[in-house]
Amino acid sequence: MANCTGNRVSTIHSFDEYTNNLIEEICSNTHDCQEPDDKVRKEIASLVSSAMKKNLTAPIVSLFAKLQEYHRKFNIPLGALGLDRSRLEELALKHQQIDEHMVSVGGRLTQALPIADEANDRVEAYLAQKGVEAASGIELWPEIQENAKRIKHILRMSDADWNSTSGQLRNAVDSVETLGSLINLPGKAIEAIGRVTKTYRMRLTPYYTSLIMPGLVNDPIMLQSIPTGEMIDNAGIEIPPVAADHSPARLIDQFYPRVLTIKATNMCAMYCTHCLRLAHIGKRDKVYSKEAYGEALAYIRNNDRIRDVLITGGDAFILPNSILKFILAELDGIDHVKIKRLGTRVPVTMPMRVNDELLDILEASNDQKPVRVVTQINTAREITPVSRDTFRKISKRVFAVLNQAVLLKGINDSRVKMWKLCETIQESYVRPYYIFNCSYRNPQFKHFRVPLEVGRDIVESMYGNISGDAIPRYISTAGGKIPMHRDNVVGKNDSNEYTLRKPWNDVEVLYPDADPDVYDKKGFAFEEYMKE
Ligand SMILES: *Cc1c(COP(=O)(O)O)cnc(C)c1O
Ligand code: SF4
Repeated sequence: MANCTGNRVSTIHSFDEYTNNLIEEICSNTHDCQEPDDKVRKEIASLVSSAMKKNLTAPIVSLFAKLQEYHRKFNIPLGALGLDRSRLEELALKHQQIDEHMVSVGGRLTQALPIADEANDRVEAYLAQKGVEAASGIELWPEIQENAKRIKHILRMSDADWNSTSGQLRNAVDSVETLGSLINLPGKAIEAIGRVTKTYRMRLTPYYTSLIMPGLVNDPIMLQSIPTGEMIDNAGIEIPPVAADHSPARLIDQFYPRVLTIKATNMCAMYCTHCLRLAHIGKRDKVYSKEAYGEALAYIRNNDRIRDVLITGGDAFILPNSILKFILAELDGIDHVKIKRLGTRVPVTMPMRVNDELLDILEASNDQKPVRVVTQINTAREITPVSRDTFRKISKRVFAVLNQAVLLKGINDSRVKMWKLCETIQESYVRPYYIFNCSYRNPQFKHFRVPLEVGRDIVESMYGNISGDAIPRYISTAGGKIPMHRDNVVGKNDSNEYTLRKPWNDVEVLYPDADPDVYDKKGFAFEEYMKE
C-alpha cells in the first residue's frame, strides 16, 4: 500500500483559482491507490526533469497534464512519484514567471487548451473535406493544364492565341458541337443543350472551358457556363425584358440616393447560366455610342448626391481600354464622385485580358480617387494559379478587390464549399464582400435557388471558424440589397443585459449594455476641468 498522504506544505504564493484547483486535485488523497509501475515512474521523472531544467512553459504544462491524467485514471499518489506539493507550486510559479502575460499553468491546462480543443472540433470536418468536396483550381492545376493542352490542340490554338484576349475571344466556344468535342459530352446532352442555346446564349472562353473536369457529373464550372434544359422548362423561351423601373437615365440603374451603376456594355467573356442580367446581355454583343455614355455621365454630373459609381455590364473589363480610360477620367473629373467600382468576372473567365495597359489605367485612376474591382467567384474551382496571379496584380494597383458570390445549388451551397471559396479567394488577394441569394425574378434559375435557412446557416457557420476578414454578408436582392443575417441578439432582461448567441456553437451569453444614465449624461470630464 502506497503512502496516500499528500504532502501539505503551506501555500507560499497565491495562484489563481484554476491553478489552486489543479494542484489541489493532483495532491488530493486517493483511495485504493496504485503503485506506479516503472514505466510511469520513468515517464514522470523525465517530465519533471525537463520542467525543472528548461526555461519553457510547455514541459511544465505537459507534466501537470500527465499528473492530472494519472491521478484520475490510476489514483497514483504524488509521493509515490517522488513529488510533493511544494515542487508543484515551485513549477507553477515558474510557469507564471516565464510567461509574458503571466498566464497560469492551471488556466492554460484546464481552460485555454480545452477551449482550443473544442474549437478544433468545429473545423475538423472542414479540414478533412475541403480538398475532396471543394478542391480549388490551384489544387487541380495539373488536370487543368492537361485540359488546356487538349483544348488548344483541338481548336488549333497557339500559345500566343491562348495567352491573348483576341485569341480567347476568337476561339470562344459558342456551339454545342465544338463544346462536345472539347469536353466529351454524351449525345443526349448535346441534343438538350442545342435546344436551350437557341434561346439562351452560350459562350465559354477556351480558358474557362479548361476548368471543366470532363466526365465529372454536375461539374460546378459546367453548371455555371453551359445552359441546360431546366432553363426552358422553368420559364419557357421568352426572356422578359429589362425592367424599366430602376433606370432614371440611359445606361443607368439606381436604387439608392448616393450609389448607382452604369451598365457600360452588354458583353461578357463568358455567359453565366445564372445571370441576373439575362435580358440585358441579350442575344448579341453591342457597342454603345459616345452619346449613350455621354447621357449617363451627364446624369451623374447633374446629380451631386452621387458619390459612388459602379461601372458594370455585362463585364466592365470587356470594354476596350480606351473606353474604360475615358469613363474613369470623366468620373474623376466630377467633384462629387468619390469612389469608382468596376464589376468584372474577367479575372476568372479570361484572365489574359488583364494586361499592363489596363493595370496602368486602373492605377492612374486609383491615384485620383479610390478604385475598387468587384468580381464574381462562386467556387474555389475558379481560382487557378493564373487567376490568383491576376488578382494579385490588380490588388497592387487598386484600393480593393471584392467578391460578390451568388449562392447556387450544387456549386457552393454547403459549409465546406463556401468556407473553401471564401478562404481561397482571401488567399488570392480578394476580399469576400457579398453572397447573393439567387434571384427569384428570373424563373429560369429556379433549379439553382437555395432556401434562405440554408444560406443563413452557411454564412453564420463561418463566424469563429474562419477569419473575420473572409466572411461575406448574405444578401437578397428585391429592389435593393437586403441583409439576411440571422439575429444573434436573442433578448434583453430587466438588468440592462442582452442575451447574445454565439453563431458558431449556439451558446448564449449575457452581455451588459452601456449604462443608459451614463450615456444620457452630457459631455465629458474635460468640461469640469476647464471650469474656472
Ligand atoms: C448592387 C448595386 C449597388 C451597390 O450596392 P452596395 O451595397 O453599395 O455594394 C448600387 N446600385 C445598384 C443598382 C446595384 O445593383
Ligand atoms: S459575368 Fe455577370 S453579367 Fe456577365 S453573364 Fe455572368 S453574371 Fe451575367
